Amino acid sequence: MTTMAGKLDEKITPIYQEVLQRNPGESEFHQAVHEVLESLGRVIVKYPEFADHKIIQRICEPERQVIFRVPWQDDRGEVHINRAFRVEFNSALGPYKGGMRFHPSVYLGVIKFLGFEQIFKNALTGLPIGGGKGGSDFDPKGRSDDEIMRFCQSLMTELYRHLGEYTDVPAGDIGVGQREIGYLFGQYKRITNRYESGVLTGKGLDWGGSLVRREATGYGTVFFAQEMLRARGESLEGRKCVVSGSGNVAIYAAEQLIQLGAKVIACSDSNGVIVHEAGIDLDLLKQIKEVERRRIRDYADRCTDARYIDRGNIWDIPCDVAIPAATENELSGSDAKKLVENGCIAVAEGANMPTTPEGVHVFQDAGVAYGPGKAANAGGVATSALEMQQNASRDSWTFEYTEKRLQQIMQDIHHTCHETAEEFGVPGNYVLGANIAAFLKVGRAMVAMGLV
Ligand code: GLU
Repeated sequence: MTTMAGKLDEKITPIYQEVLQRNPGESEFHQAVHEVLESLGRVIVKYPEFADHKIIQRICEPERQVIFRVPWQDDRGEVHINRAFRVEFNSALGPYKGGMRFHPSVYLGVIKFLGFEQIFKNALTGLPIGGGKGGSDFDPKGRSDDEIMRFCQSLMTELYRHLGEYTDVPAGDIGVGQREIGYLFGQYKRITNRYESGVLTGKGLDWGGSLVRREATGYGTVFFAQEMLRARGESLEGRKCVVSGSGNVAIYAAEQLIQLGAKVIACSDSNGVIVHEAGIDLDLLKQIKEVERRRIRDYADRCTDARYIDRGNIWDIPCDVAIPAATENELSGSDAKKLVENGCIAVAEGANMPTTPEGVHVFQDAGVAYGPGKAANAGGVATSALEMQQNASRDSWTFEYTEKRLQQIMQDIHHTCHETAEEFGVPGNYVLGANIAAFLKVGRAMVAMGLV
């Protein structure tokens, strides 16, 4: 549990109180809302029409929330019951868009925090996508392919009625990758009798997927870090980097860091940390995580000059640039202090809300270039929107072209956040820049569309 570090404007405090009251026990959702509301004091002074239209209150209430039972049988024939969610948060800018997370920690509060963040992140991409998120408390760890397939089929048998390329377009998140998207898409196609490519993103390349989607979140996060450093006359070249996690985001963040001349010396999973001062061997990491689906402990067994720290804290490893790419609240106030003491100059979030509110304020007070997830990791969902574009035109683009588009989008997001922060008198504050720019875009669309 974390406390909220910053202050709210007195006009906004009652709105937040109401959010607490209407959504009891959902601490992650409260945290995500508080962080955005902290930024909006300046906005309602400058643009009182948002208060008249109750835009803040409306944005904090999902348009629709679906909760359903997912029954399935394991390989031994035993019956299991999971709970699944889809929160269709805001469709002012386009169809609901956001991933599905399969993890035992999933409950409504987690999906609402992610869906809420997604509204702002998606707005920042400049592409026509609204915000949504879904998931289940299903634990895929140790499950066979057949079990994963049966679970995905059962989930989609209920979820399909809420989806559509113009309605709601899920993708992956923690525990959901191309394999799961395949099973979900197969069942959607079977039930609806429609080959509706644009209803899911993160598909395989042979059946409607986009090149660069797999790499996009990690690459995009590093492009954002590069822009933050460039704005300060610095670069990633030769920098020592630490990337937490070892999933899709972490692996491709590490790949892009290496391509840009940085050195990645550590990564992690929920059991421990790998430190490899010579630089992480990406081929080995991909073999262990993507092909064999094993724990990173194996990395140290197969690579003798790497160290495995069981239950270690990755933020104790000195670095110039930190990329939190594991999960929410993985980087605390004391972790942030340790990073600053050890000389860290930039933090770009590959995960959603990985830094606690205390940690964010430590980075900001120390003048660290800090890129919040909703800006820094927007490359994943942006490339999902590029996948939707390709599907709509029944086309597929080259890797080079798609990567260029991603790079341009990340530069534009950086520019938007940077300029907005200056305009509102808080230069260098990417949190305020991102929240305000995204809120203005969504809020204006909501005002234009009337009371719906
Ligand atoms: N789950 C990813 C995110 O947090 C991607 C969502 C998508 O591609 O729709 O943004």
